[in-house]
Amino acid sequence: MNGNKKSIIIIGGGLAGLSAGCYALMNRYNVRIFEHAAIPGGVCTSWKTDDYMIDGCIHWLMGHRPGTSIYEIYKELGIVDAARFLDAKSYINFVDARTGNQFELTADYESTKDRLMAISPEDKNTIEEFLQACVAMAELQIPIGGSSQKKSTLDRVRGLWQKRKILKYLFKYHLPLKEYVKKIKNKWVQDIIVNLFLQDMTTLFSMLMLGYLFKNQLGIVEGGSIRFVLPIEKRLKNLGGKITYNATVEKILVENNTAVGVKLADGSVYRSDIVISAADLHATLYNMLNGKYVGKRFEYMFKNWKMFSPLMLVSFGVKGDIKRYPPVNVLFLKEPFKIGNTRIDRLLVRDYSYDKVMNPGGRTVIQAEIETEYDYWMELRGNEQAYYKEKDNVAHKVLDKLEDFYPGIKAKVETIDVATPYTFLRYTRNYRGAFEGWLMTGETIKMPVPKTLYGLKNFYLAGQWVEPGGGVPTAVASGRRIIKKICYDDKKEFVTKLP
Ligand SMILES: Cc1cc2nc3c(=O)[nH]c(=O)nc-3n(C[C@H](O)[C@H](O)[C@H](O)COP(=O)(O)OP(=O)(O)OC[C@H]3O[C@@H](n4cnc5c(N)ncnc54)[C@H](O)[C@@H]3O)c2cc1C
Repeated sequence: MNGNKKSIIIIGGGLAGLSAGCYALMNRYNVRIFEHAAIPGGVCTSWKTDDYMIDGCIHWLMGHRPGTSIYEIYKELGIVDAARFLDAKSYINFVDARTGNQFELTADYESTKDRLMAISPEDKNTIEEFLQACVAMAELQIPIGGSSQKKSTLDRVRGLWQKRKILKYLFKYHLPLKEYVKKIKNKWVQDIIVNLFLQDMTTLFSMLMLGYLFKNQLGIVEGGSIRFVLPIEKRLKNLGGKITYNATVEKILVENNTAVGVKLADGSVYRSDIVISAADLHATLYNMLNGKYVGKRFEYMFKNWKMFSPLMLVSFGVKGDIKRYPPVNVLFLKEPFKIGNTRIDRLLVRDYSYDKVMNPGGRTVIQAEIETEYDYWMELRGNEQAYYKEKDNVAHKVLDKLEDFYPGIKAKVETIDVATPYTFLRYTRNYRGAFEGWLMTGETIKMPVPKTLYGLKNFYLAGQWVEPGGGVPTAVASGRRIIKKICYDDKKEFVTKLP
C-alpha cells in the first residue's frame, strides 16, 4: 500500500467489512479487505442451485425508505441507487394446521389491532399497550455515528423528548418474549406474539420491528439479498479499495502490542498501519490473536451470553402453480418431528412467490428456516455419507410437512438445497455456526461491547459480534461507526462524501 495515506487491512468482506472499507476510503485511507469466501456478503447472501436462485438472508430490511438514519447509509454505500426495495406489507402470516387458525400480522396497524382484539377481547388492554409501545419504539433510530445532515436545535429537542417517552418502554419490555407472553390469556394470541422472533430475544426487538412495519419502514430486497451486497462491493472498488477472495486470515501480526498486519492461511504476509476485524469474534480473539488480548469482559461474554442458535435452511425449487402465502410464515404443524434431539413443532417458511426477478418463468422457492443443534451436525459431518443422508432425510421430512400447507407441492419440486450449521461455518467461519452473533437481551442492551482491545494498539472490531442483536442495518452502521472512531483517534474530521 503506498502514498502518504495510512493503510487499513480489514478481515472479512461481510456487510460490516465492506461498509468499513467504503467509509475508510471516503476518509482517505488505503484499504485492503481479505475475505475467506469466494464472494462478498458473509451471511448476507444468495446462491444458485440447479438454476434456482436461493436466498439466505433478508426477510425484513429496516429503514428501506427515506426518513430513517439507516437510509442515509444505504444511500452513502450506493445500495439505494442499485437495488430495488419492496415494502413488506406483512410481517408474519401464522397458520395452525392443528386448529385451522390463521392470522396475518400486516402493516395496517388498526386492522392488526382490531383482529387481535377480536380473537381475544379479554386481552384487549395488553394488546393495545403492546401495539402502542411498538409505535413508540419506531421513533428509535439505529445509531449510525452521526448524520451527514446537520440537525437543527428543534430536531435535537424533539429527539430528546421522544427518547424520554421511549424510556418507560425500555424498562418495561426488556424481558424475553417467552416471559412477556405469560401475561397474555388467549393461547392463540400467545402463540402469535411469542413467535414474532426468537423467544429468548428481548421483547423490545420485536416491538422495534413491528414499529418499523407500521410506519412502512420495513422492506424486502427484490431479486435476493446478494443484490444488497454487490452495490457495496462496487462502491468499494470504485473508491479504489481492494478485496481479495478465498483469502483466509490465520493470524493478526502484532509487534510491541501494536497490530501491524495479517498472515493468511497460505503463508503470505501483508502489513498495514491499522487492522480491523469484521470477522468472527471468537476466532479473532482466540485464534488470530492467540488469546492474548481477550480480557475479562470478552471472557464473560463467551461464558454467559446467549448466541443466535445455528440454523438449517431447507429450500425447495418449485415449478408450476402452488398455493401462495405471504413472504414470511410461521406454520404450526399437525404432528411434530425430530432433527437430532430437537423437537420441531413449527416451521418458519419463506415463500418467494412474490419475487419474479429472483426466479422467473413460473418457478419459485419455498424455504424452511429451522433452529438446530450445532454439535449434532458437526458430529455427523465426521462421516460424510451419514451427513448427506441426514440432510436428505430432513429435507423429505420437511417436504412431507409442507404438503399440509401447500397441497401438491411434492410433485412440483425440481430441486432441493439444504444448508446446515456446518455450511454456515464452512462459508463464513462464524463461531459454532451462529448466524447472527449475540442475542439482544435485557443484559446485552445495557452492556455495549468494546470495539478495541485493552493493550493492543491500532486494532479495531466491527460487525455483528460487537453489536448484540446483529442484523443488516447494524452491520453496515457498525462499519461506518468504526471508521468514525478511527478518524477521531487519528484527529481527522470524519466525512461521508465521495471524493
Ligand atoms: C438466514 C438469515 C436471515 C437473516 N435475516 C435478516 C433479516 O431479515 N434482517 C436483518 O437485518 N438481518 C438478517 N440477518 C442477519 C444479517 O444478515 C447479519 O447480521 C449481517 O449480515 C452480519 O454481517 P457481518 O459483516 O457483521 O458478519 P458476517 O456476514 O459473518 O461477515 C463476516 C465475514 O468475515 C469472513 N471471515 C471470517 N473469518 C475470516 C478469516 N479468518 N479471514 C477472512 N475472512 C473471514 C466471513 O467469510 C464473512 O464474510 C439474517 C442472517 C441470516 C443468516
